[in-house]
Amino acid sequence: MPYRLTAPAPGWTATTDVVVVGSGVAGLTVALNVRRAGLRATVVTKAMLDDGSTRWAQGGIAAALGEGDTPEQHLDDTLVAGAGLCDEDAVRTLVTEGPDAVRRLIAVGAAFDQDEDGSILLTREGGHHRRRIAHAGGDATGAEISRALVAAVRNDPGIELIEHALVLDLLTDADGHAAGLTLHVMGEGQRDGVGAIRARAVVLATGGMGQVFSATTNPAVSTGDGVALALRAGAEVADLEFVQFHPTVLWLGAEAEGQQPLVSEAVRGEGAHLVDASGERFMLGQHELAELAPRDIVAKAITRQMQLRGTEHMYLDGRHFGAEMWEHRFPTILASCRAHGIDPVTDLIPVAPAAHYASGGVRTDLTGRTTVPGLYACGEVACTGVHGANRLASNSLLEGLVFAERIAADLAARHAAGDLPERAVDVAAALDARTVPLLAPEARADIQRLMSRGAGVLRSAESMAATAEGLAVLAREASAYLDEGKPADPRVETWEAANLHLVATALVTAAARREETRGCHWREDFPDRDDARWQHHLVTTLDADGHPCVQG
Ligand SMILES: Cc1cc2nc3c(=O)[nH]c(=O)nc-3n(C[C@H](O)[C@H](O)[C@H](O)COP(=O)(O)OP(=O)(O)OC[C@H]3O[C@@H](n4cnc5c(N)ncnc54)[C@H](O)[C@@H]3O)c2cc1C
Repeated sequence: MPYRLTAPAPGWTATTDVVVVGSGVAGLTVALNVRRAGLRATVVTKAMLDDGSTRWAQGGIAAALGEGDTPEQHLDDTLVAGAGLCDEDAVRTLVTEGPDAVRRLIAVGAAFDQDEDGSILLTREGGHHRRRIAHAGGDATGAEISRALVAAVRNDPGIELIEHALVLDLLTDADGHAAGLTLHVMGEGQRDGVGAIRARAVVLATGGMGQVFSATTNPAVSTGDGVALALRAGAEVADLEFVQFHPTVLWLGAEAEGQQPLVSEAVRGEGAHLVDASGERFMLGQHELAELAPRDIVAKAITRQMQLRGTEHMYLDGRHFGAEMWEHRFPTILASCRAHGIDPVTDLIPVAPAAHYASGGVRTDLTGRTTVPGLYACGEVACTGVHGANRLASNSLLEGLVFAERIAADLAARHAAGDLPERAVDVAAALDARTVPLLAPEARADIQRLMSRGAGVLRSAESMAATAEGLAVLAREASAYLDEGKPADPRVETWEAANLHLVATALVTAAARREETRGCHWREDFPDRDDARWQHHLVTTLDADGHPCVQG
């Protein structure tokens, strides 16, 4: 039986063909492409259209566009980073369809950096054996992609845009097919408060879940809502334990929480070195690619050095670039460092790992279909199998693009075949599901601290048991308040806290189950990769009591 968040009954209803949740690269690409198939699209987004992770992407988008590069070489690098858990068909789809998907993005209006002959400039990032990362505005790739896609959707009268609207739960019809969703619109006017949107299909493009940790590169909207919604709707999620910690996030002090500025891998790609306080390069001899080793290797090496030396950060040295290169190639990073009192032209940059990317998510097939009929997922919220145990740098924007296009193609084909009918949904009956107690807004910071302490870069059975117990205490408190007739009010902060709690609990359950070290999952008590026991995916669903239950 599905679950849902405690919320008032919908006070208004709207109808569309395809409702897309989220307005990053994935959601907006779905919306633009389903429109080409003659379907109406409604995009619902939590804050402003450009408030997801997409806008923050710096380094670029990976695709075999360069001379001598091939999808096969991109496939090889992706499989190596994924540490034995990539779904090869999904990777092959990504790398084969990727170059044309980038060209289509350019046709929509995204302007990538070019040389004097008009060829796209390509850089290298960790784990890539070739220069294959296209970038825009130097280090402002995501901002340019977001700008182009937002302009395109705003120009299409067939796409309805609902900003400042938090999607709560899925609606299904009597056959269990997705038939719309409930949402809370934060605004004034006809659509204020909780409402329902009926649709023939629902696409989740809600991005990542970095906010379950204290320090993250992800913006405030990345609270794992799509994964939580999918779990409550009965969908399978997979690979949640594989959270990538970006090795080089600007260190702002031990007490810093929430979104922290990233110092892109491209800075290392252009030749910056990781050094300790004495200026010694500690990545040499650890990996053939040194500072450009895959992210998990670099994050672990930095964490080891921090432990060895009892410090809270290491340093990135890009002083040899000189002022001109910093200003032209990395203007965003230069500005954010300077805003925090560090001048990369003359100073070492203090860096430490922080939660960056969710390799796992809502399980999908190659057309983006989840295990709930009519519910699709793409972008960071999805687990297509492309990333395996670790994402290769700059594959995520590409994954969002390629699989969003595939979802739109699947919806178009179903529509053409008469297999995408309007769904009859009795909203009141569809909401007849068990409700999840909401958590007080203050629980958000408690969850983040618990997760960073026990389920971050370094994990052990002991640390994760402590985290799981801390999360269980928060759940018991919420239930006790409910029993006493003093439940947390249904509102954005308490819905988000409930989503964070569910995602954190599912993540730590999977991470505790996987007794090995693989990709970005690092167990201090099981330091080796163990293919005999663990070369498979862990799949999570909710059990009859609404608790995350891991199979595999
Ligand atoms: C600092 C930073 C740098 C990065 N650099 C790169 C890079 O160089 N290359 C690369 O490939 N990747 C990079 N990434 C990762 C990449 O940006 C993301 O994986 C990608 O943009 C995700 O796109 P998306 O469309 O899936 O989600 P997002 O862009 O995160 O969008 C999610 C959307 O869902 C909305 N949403 C969430 N929950 C709800 C809800 N309940 N109701 C309604 N709306 C909701 C959000 O408001 C948002 O609009 C970077 C990420 C960060 C944070």
